[in-house]
Amino acid sequence: MSFAALGLSEALVRAVTERGYTSPTPIQAKAIPAVLSGGDLLAGAQTGTGKTAGFVLPILQRLSTTAPRKPASGGARPIRVLILAPTRELAAQVEESVVAYSKHLKLSSTVVFGGVNINPQIDRLRRGVDILVATPGRLLDHAGQRTVDLSGVEVLVLDEADRMLDMGFIHDIRRVLKLLPAQRQNLLFSATFSDEIKALADGLLNRPALIEVARRNATADTVAQRVLPVDRARKRELLSHLVREHNWFQVLVFTRTKHGANRLAEQLAKDGIPSLAIHGNKSQNARTRALSEFKSGSLQVLVATDIAARGLDIVELPHVVNFDLPNVPEDYVHRIGRTGRAGAEGEAVSLVSPDENGLLRDIERLIRRELPRQTVAGFELDPNARNEPEADDRPPRQSRRPMRGDASRGAPRPGFRGSAAGQGGSRGQSAKPAASAGGRGAAQPVRAAMAAPARSATAAPARPSGVGGFRGRSSRSGR
Ligand code: AMP
Repeated sequence: MSFAALGLSEALVRAVTERGYTSPTPIQAKAIPAVLSGGDLLAGAQTGTGKTAGFVLPILQRLSTTAPRKPASGGARPIRVLILAPTRELAAQVEESVVAYSKHLKLSSTVVFGGVNINPQIDRLRRGVDILVATPGRLLDHAGQRTVDLSGVEVLVLDEADRMLDMGFIHDIRRVLKLLPAQRQNLLFSATFSDEIKALADGLLNRPALIEVARRNATADTVAQRVLPVDRARKRELLSHLVREHNWFQVLVFTRTKHGANRLAEQLAKDGIPSLAIHGNKSQNARTRALSEFKSGSLQVLVATDIAARGLDIVELPHVVNFDLPNVPEDYVHRIGRTGRAGAEGEAVSLVSPDENGLLRDIERLIRRELPRQTVAGFELDPNARNEPEADDRPPRQSRRPMRGDASRGAPRPGFRGSAAGQGGSRGQSAKPAASAGGRGAAQPVRAAMAAPARSATAAPARPSGVGGFRGRSSRSGR
């Protein structure tokens, strides 16, 4: 299968070839024709699968072959595509991809996100762009100041929609939807498929094509996963030991809390290991600097919280360390998805203290496999050690900004089918067919379902879930 065979123009095929891509990834092979057809799309895919090109390439193709609509404001050059992303880093990365893939086309783009001066963004928007990538909050700031006109938008993409909901953006998304014209193509990408996502899809999408690619946990054969039992008080010492002993470079370390990330980065730096922390309280400049140093290889260790690390595109990252296990088992899958990408070999090591054994069991149930334990000599567990969980510096995810009328509040989030089945027994979640993801009136058969060899991705008729969707139906009637 080639990119040209998917119906992409010579200019786009040339751009991806120059980027070093020889053939489409599974999500691209399914998403590109679906998006080119002009219909709505619900895709279960996470970062690392090539999903960005999966929606950017066909969007560019459509823009370059059709004339823009006239915006309600009568302005000369309408924004034709709006891509919403949860974090600044992801928004910036998506826009970089748009720039790279559109290099042989006469289309322009920009990105807007918070934490930086709004004025250059206003100037850029005033000059006109075809494609706007944005985080929801800053986009609404622009809308409030009337520095952005979304009345000509033809395509809306919600990228990493699950994470946007986790981060409490549902109200912002609803506000953005009200600014868009009724007639448009909607594409929703999500790594997991909770009831909240179902409600969002139900209200937003019209007879969507459904695409699913294997979650990382089903394809993680290239990632060697290990658990190193260790007393909590000795985790930092063990991490320094591992990094030094094995001369690890480009180590992405996850902590549960921002405070823990700061403290660990400082302690490692004191041990002589160049380290920086990246999390939501850091300025945009600090985050960008840490990321670019890490990518270039000059920073040995990057310590990150889950939200900050989400969507980071660091190709072929060799080492991921879970300094703390995540509270939400799906985050483990996201974390280890940072390594062993695109077929490269990677290693994911979890430092697990006895107080985290319950979290470890939840993860093993989710990924349906027992992780090998390996005690490191000199770091054996001390039966007299005090191992107590660290206090969180943020409220548990499930209780944050619950959706009105959401019956699933407080329930763990199932992944797309495979992982839901994995946790079914222990958590009282039933494995729901992915095809129940169907949007409003989605009686059509699934147009594309990706089958991972180990997990049969059967195509069942798409039916609305019965979850109410947005109460005000603003998005539904606003299509
Ligand atoms: P994404 O899932 O969109 O974040 O992409 C993950 C990584 O895969 C990025 O570094 C892309 O540049 C890369 N990538 C995307 N499509 C392809 C492809 N067809 N062949 C090789 N690498 C790709």
